[in-house]
Amino acid sequence: MADTQSVVSDVKLFLERLKKEMPEIFGTTEKSTDTNGNAPAPSTANKVLFNGDLCEARTYITPDQEEGVAFDGTVFHIYLKSKESDPSALVTQYLRDKATEILPQKTAKWATEIGVEYNKVFLKDQRTLWASCSSQKNINYSYRIIKMPLVVQDYLVIHELCHLRFMNHGQEYWELVGKFSPDYKLHRRWLNEHKDAVFEDIHITLPPEEMPNESPHN
Ligand SMILES: [Zn+2]
Repeated sequence: MADTQSVVSDVKLFLERLKKEMPEIFGTTEKSTDTNGNAPAPSTANKVLFNGDLCEARTYITPDQEEGVAFDGTVFHIYLKSKESDPSALVTQYLRDKATEILPQKTAKWATEIGVEYNKVFLKDQRTLWASCSSQKNINYSYRIIKMPLVVQDYLVIHELCHLRFMNHGQEYWELVGKFSPDYKLHRRWLNEHKDAVFEDIHITLPPEEMPNESPHN
């Protein structure tokens, strides 16, 4: 039943947990200081959290090209018209577009699996809430869900859709969730541990300008 992407996400989640619980088997940890003893910059600066991966972001000034973002599966390539352009806004729009495309698809797929009917899907920029479900059977998502691992995205969709059957968090409700998201406890833990990174705004800055033609003695 699990597709390849879900399996990969599961393995990543497992490794991440292992890394936290047994850092010694992974060698030096990310929290190490640099050679000057300075703490590193916040981990998500100049990176993009997407589908659970913290991806590298590279910026290019290309005045003759349309501005935009291309993701190659590993790196976000951000093409800007000038250094006044805003790479963070472009990536945020990219993530919103992806969420607008993916989350309604996931909702339709899981609604069929679970056997529930919903009305409409709305994408919002909810900062304190990942998702919600209204009495009119509308499902609301924060576009930021797209930053989470695929299995966690699925869990949130399943969580909301199961509320169409049970409008509470009772035992029957969790049994239904567990039927479609067997590792939901693990996913809830991921959400708890990563909520800051998920709600954090994208922050990408241009690298310092190189001035190859200028003499260093100016
Ligand atoms: Zn709920």
